[in-house]
Amino acid sequence: MSRKVSLPDPDRFFEIRLESIGGLGAHVAGQIIATAAVLRMDLNGAHFSSYGSEKKGSVLRSYIRLGPADRPIRTSAPIESPDAIVIFHSALLDHPATVAGMRATGTLIFTAPEGESPTGLSRLPATARVMRVDAQRIASDEKSRPNAVLIGTLTAALPFLDAEAILDALSEAFARRRPEAVAANERAFRRGAQEFEVLSHAGKGNGDLPIFRPSPVWGYETAPIGGVLPTPGNTAWNDLSTSRTGWLPVLDKDKCIHCGMCDMVCPDLCLVWSTHADEPLVRLEGVDYRYCKGCLRCVETCSTGAITREAEIPGLVERLGVPLFPDLFEQKGG
Ligand code: SF4
Ligand code: SF4
Repeated sequence: MSRKVSLPDPDRFFEIRLESIGGLGAHVAGQIIATAAVLRMDLNGAHFSSYGSEKKGSVLRSYIRLGPADRPIRTSAPIESPDAIVIFHSALLDHPATVAGMRATGTLIFTAPEGESPTGLSRLPATARVMRVDAQRIASDEKSRPNAVLIGTLTAALPFLDAEAILDALSEAFARRRPEAVAANERAFRRGAQEFEVLSHAGKGNGDLPIFRPSPVWGYETAPIGGVLPTPGNTAWNDLSTSRTGWLPVLDKDKCIHCGMCDMVCPDLCLVWSTHADEPLVRLEGVDYRYCKGCLRCVETCSTGAITREAEIPGLVERLGVPLFPDLFEQKGG
């Protein structure tokens, strides 16, 4: 049964942008919110996502546009000036495009552990509302996913949304696909709606942020001949931290039998082996997390439990990472 709700400003659409990477459930979250708005809140709604070249691990934006029932939504343009932005991975805040177009009166929700305040927040308008929730931890506790937590926080942030209608849509979406996950998602949703923190004085900017319209770096007239990469060695400095979904493989050397099975399945060859000339056996030393995209194939393959899945908490990468190219690492000063 639908319950009529009113948008804050009935003369324009209310627009929400979800900033994520593939694999964290932002597309499904957008579908659930828009479905609830249309079928259970008597609103008009539209939802679509844009993906990178590869879904899991690449940047994903999901757009939700809501309007009154008597106002058709005829545009499918990306949302450039959102009323609310939800960030599914805090490392995305390093990129100005993540918060581009943020309205001065808008709301930004990001996931991060307590006490973490990414520097990218300072780009926000000083008048915007900024909310932090540890979606990764709550999802891990409840054996759910961060999207259920973040939907809960968004619903709490936007009181015009009917929380029970959204929770019903969330439960219905999972009742079809994974009925065993319904109760866990409901708990994650309710915790997301309660366990958030509103950060004061996070933003330093004035007024609405400018919109961002990327243009190609090279066109047909300016591309290097033969499509060569003019910046050799760029992969050595690749930072894939934003391509991970918040989980890392962690090696316990005491359990490792150095069988090499993890290395055979790793798509990015980021496992580091010892190269001591006086040792007959090469030994697994650890993981270079600059290249690791957190696919966890190594974890699934390891027969001894020596490499396990751990939540990516601040400082873990710096503490446990083993560089594949230590000379290069030192030369560039880390
Ligand atoms: S598969 Fe497991 S035991 Fe074998 S080398 Fe990798 S971590 Fe060690
Ligand atoms: S999670 Fe494991 S298999 Fe996947 S990229 Fe990282 S080290 Fe390689």
